[in-house]
Amino acid sequence: MSLFNVYPLFDITPLKAKDVYVFDENNTKYLDLYGGHAVISIGHSHPKYVFTISEQVSKLGFYSNSIQNPLQVELANKLELLSGCKDYQLFLCNSGAEANENALKLASFHNGKHKIVAFKNSFHGRTSAAVAATDDKKIIAPINAQQDVEILELGDLVSLEKALEKNNVCAVIIECIQGVGGLDESTSAFYEGIDKLCKKYNTCFIADEVQSGFGRTGDFFAFQKYKVTPDIISIAKGMGNGFPVGGILIHPNIKPSFGLLGTTFGGNHLACAASLTVLEVIEDENLMQNAKEMSAYFMEKAQDISEIKKIKGRGLMLGLEFDFPISELRKNLIYKHHIFTGSAKNPNLIRILPPLTIKKEHIDTFFEALKLELET
Ligand SMILES: *Cc1c(COP(=O)(O)O)cnc(C)c1O
Repeated sequence: MSLFNVYPLFDITPLKAKDVYVFDENNTKYLDLYGGHAVISIGHSHPKYVFTISEQVSKLGFYSNSIQNPLQVELANKLELLSGCKDYQLFLCNSGAEANENALKLASFHNGKHKIVAFKNSFHGRTSAAVAATDDKKIIAPINAQQDVEILELGDLVSLEKALEKNNVCAVIIECIQGVGGLDESTSAFYEGIDKLCKKYNTCFIADEVQSGFGRTGDFFAFQKYKVTPDIISIAKGMGNGFPVGGILIHPNIKPSFGLLGTTFGGNHLACAASLTVLEVIEDENLMQNAKEMSAYFMEKAQDISEIKKIKGRGLMLGLEFDFPISELRKNLIYKHHIFTGSAKNPNLIRILPPLTIKKEHIDTFFEALKLELET
């Protein structure tokens, strides 16, 4: 049997990893400034993470949601403490797409409407309603195209109000900092405007924090830079540091009745142990503060490089924009300098999504390599 080719492949086979480094079959060391799509939050194979997961699987790895699972309660409490999102309900699932799928479904159950508003260059996952809300025609199959979706320009509150006035929009879904779209972010007036308009027209405001959440931007959630109260917050990626886990936080104004949402694997014991450890390490090692400090250091260094036309994003969710396509540069960074970086929909943008444990010396290594590449 052959493998379905999911993404363009780099010819590297990592066999182990430690903190910000990945090692291939020849034990060559790569600096990971990509975190496997923003997933590795507390560093690869963090000792506490290895210990907790191993211990949990030796006790009880899985039982279904038909029994009580105290780890879910512990996770919900810790999440409330670190995020500051008071009195939300937590529903656990297994991925970002599934989180958004449940968020959109719940919004529609809540207000009885059916249409989705999303934004240009959005990415919300690859399943039915989530992919329909994604601004990428080539991954939307005819079966997904049945969903009624309107894609608006970032920043356009006038069109948003026009759409909401028709009283058929169940949810406005947005990444407050876009991920794969290219790190675009609008103004506080825009996000606060969405919040107000959603409340005025009884539409749910869904903040997709799948990539930007769990401390990546230096705040626990990217939306927390603004005075907004999302009705539903979707989470995944950094939440499990590689263990597949996702979820939604549901505002107390939404009261889903019993049985509207469900899942077999979601919130299992191992997933909870993984995510709890992520939260504990973020707190113990002060990783949100580190994200802020390393971000400032990164930006300072980036300013010295004239080829970088724009630095986008916040915290350790950054984009470096050049005035030429970066695919050769990215290849050279990997093969010549052994540094992983990410790409985006914007062909001129390098995406930087390192573990939140990154230090100055790693950033120095990156900029030395970048300078060498830009000189040649
Ligand atoms: C990755 C991503 C998703 C989808 O998550 P999966 O776990 O791949 O299903 C959804 N929204 C955003 C913003 C993402 O970055």
